[in-house]
Amino acid sequence: MVRGVCTYPLCSMAGLRNFYIIFSVLVMFSCFPHKHQSRLPSECIFCSIGEHSATRIVYQDEDVIAFHDIKPAANTHLLVVPTRHIGTVKSLRKEDYELVQKMKVVGQRLLREQGYSEDNIRLGFHIPPFNSIDHLHLHCLGLPFRNWWIGGKYSRNTPLWFNSIDTILEKLK
Ligand SMILES: [Zn+2]
Ligand SMILES: [Zn+2]
Repeated sequence: MVRGVCTYPLCSMAGLRNFYIIFSVLVMFSCFPHKHQSRLPSECIFCSIGEHSATRIVYQDEDVIAFHDIKPAANTHLLVVPTRHIGTVKSLRKEDYELVQKMKVVGQRLLREQGYSEDNIRLGFHIPPFNSIDHLHLHCLGLPFRNWWIGGKYSRNTPLWFNSIDTILEKLK
């Protein structure tokens, strides 16, 4: 036990820094309001993505659909979603490993076809409650980011709200 140290968050510089970080994250994510939070596949926007005329679909097969994010965070920003409704990374089971691996392969291939090297490709998922839509979607980013602060939303070093595809695959093994 540590004596004489006030644990109230704002009573130390470290506490102040933590407060600032939490505040920044809240501001960052508040710029991306939850557009659709339905848990019912019948009302899910990504379950019927092929019917949205504004969607720029770049790849489609029986398992996955890839399309451009309507609010690109990077030079190229694609989303790869399973055609079957899966809520979030929290809903993934061991049996989904092959599907997630396929999402990775498709995302990687599409970005490579556009000329991105391994160093400029980032693939990952937002962790609830920091995800925008409750239908699993893999963010496939061709860097650079559009601006410095948006990169924080997709940062490799933030296991709290963004996990790389490899981290998720590792967890499913
Ligand atoms: Zn869905
Ligand atoms: Zn997301």
